[in-house]
Amino acid sequence: MPFDFDLLVIGAGSGGVRLARTAAGLGAKVAVVEGGPLGGTCVNVGCVPKKLLVYASEFPHMAQLAGGFGFDFGSPSFDWSRLIENKNNEILRLNGIYENLLHKAGVEIINGWARFVDAHTIRVNASTFSARYVVIATGGKPFVPHIPGHEHVITSNEVFFLPELPKRVSVVGGGYIAVEFAGIFNGLGVQTELVYRRDLILRGFDNEVRRFVSDQIEQSGVAIRTEETIEEIHKQADGSLQLNYGSGDRGEVDLVLCATGRIPNTHNLGLEPLGVQLKPNGAVLVDEAFRSSVPHILAIGDVIDRVALTPVALAEGMFVAHSLFGETPEPLDYDAIPTAVFCQPNIACVGLTEETAVQKFGTLDIYTSAFRPMKHTLGNDPGRMFLKLIVSAKDQVVVGAHMVGQDAGEIVQGLAIAIKAGLTKRQFDRTIGIHPTAAEEFVTLRQPTRQIR
Ligand code: FAD
Ligand code: NDP
Repeated sequence: MPFDFDLLVIGAGSGGVRLARTAAGLGAKVAVVEGGPLGGTCVNVGCVPKKLLVYASEFPHMAQLAGGFGFDFGSPSFDWSRLIENKNNEILRLNGIYENLLHKAGVEIINGWARFVDAHTIRVNASTFSARYVVIATGGKPFVPHIPGHEHVITSNEVFFLPELPKRVSVVGGGYIAVEFAGIFNGLGVQTELVYRRDLILRGFDNEVRRFVSDQIEQSGVAIRTEETIEEIHKQADGSLQLNYGSGDRGEVDLVLCATGRIPNTHNLGLEPLGVQLKPNGAVLVDEAFRSSVPHILAIGDVIDRVALTPVALAEGMFVAHSLFGETPEPLDYDAIPTAVFCQPNIACVGLTEETAVQKFGTLDIYTSAFRPMKHTLGNDPGRMFLKLIVSAKDQVVVGAHMVGQDAGEIVQGLAIAIKAGLTKRQFDRTIGIHPTAAEEFVTLRQPTRQIR
């Protein structure tokens, strides 16, 4: 064989590990290069530790609700260091599982940061390795706007390792990470504000969902400052941060978490001399088979900046493994990708928003339901749930399902199959509910809330 490997994967994150394992399973000689811990963003500083912190932050609320059910736990105490230590141990366990999975699949793990020498060769530390195919699966990293004092902010990379829980936090941004961490801090009793530059958080989600969840988040105690920016940050002698807002207001917090988006990891890879075409934000430009502009160099996952979600990176990894070493798979279908935001309450959705559905179909039947979940009644909690189905009026196909409320992701994952299968409202109506659940509302919505004609 003229090369050391059939396939070299740069990055052992969600996409890279799945690709390497699947390709090795198909008989290819594979190596994966990783400069950080195995598992990438999702395992180390993303989905997994985030969800663990979300769980932690839900306990005070549950303890509050428990009062209505007859329980009294006294005044609870909380140990941030114990939580972080336990979380770190769990992540170490997962790193080990990833290592085992790769070893068992026969994938060689090369530790270090990779840089291209030529289109078939990469350098890691002092060694070079060649392969017939090289796949860039290097993910992304947080973007921080360069405002005066930006060196005092932290990002999602650092938030998981804070030595202590701050008392006052300002979270900047209105996307996934910002609302999730605003919920985590607020749930853990931190005085939390969310600073967002536009008028309504979570751009891209259904507008009615955005308004509903924004109200619920505010009601839970987060101060949402919309149409606001932080222009300057000054560190004071006692370590606190003085904030100068765009509106002219001033404030003081102990921590600023910047959750202002992510940029693809293509710097320092040595791509420029090879002529690999990049998008303006540095993402690798690929075709429908994930091939870059240079033959035999491909890219998957966050680094191509299509849909930055772990299950999408996994699907792209599987696709590339099969297209290079197996049978040509069907093109990847990016329609109706379900997603959840683990803010509090959770959001989950699949399919179109009302705004995109109107543009696509013109006429719609919209079914909605907002109610106080049963669990909140005895605890006297005002928090509400919201469910929404978007139906194309012409053929009655359900083209979008949205939910705000506890376990929304668990519920909408099942609904996603129905939406993906193109089922009609009549088929939803013919389905018998499971009682008493919140999810049964999705099959008992009989009268449209409004008809768009
Ligand atoms: P990554 O997982 O980022 O892996 C890239 C790997 O490449 C890294 O390990 C990196 O160290 C390595 N690397 C980079 N450059 C080099 C180099 N030159 N040489 C060697 N190695 C290199 N998605 C969800 O679906 N659900 C969630 O709940 C969710 N929560 C998230 C929470 C946070 C805080 C963040 C930041 C992201 C979250 N995501 C979530 C998104 C998800 O983590 C990413 O979409 C996913 O990890 C992308 O996988 P990837 O393989 O493309 O890249
Ligand atoms: P998002 O793209 O979701 O949100 C970025 C936010 O930052 C937006 O509100 C954006 O505002 C704002 N912003 C961007 N630039 C600036 C700036 N210069 N000044 C002020 N605000 C700014 O990115 P995240 O970083 O939250 O997350 C990255 C991706 O990771 C997500 O898109 C998602 O794909 C994935 N992820 C998934 C999760 C899940 O599945 N639960 C959880 C966490 C992350 P505007 O709206 O005006 O553009």
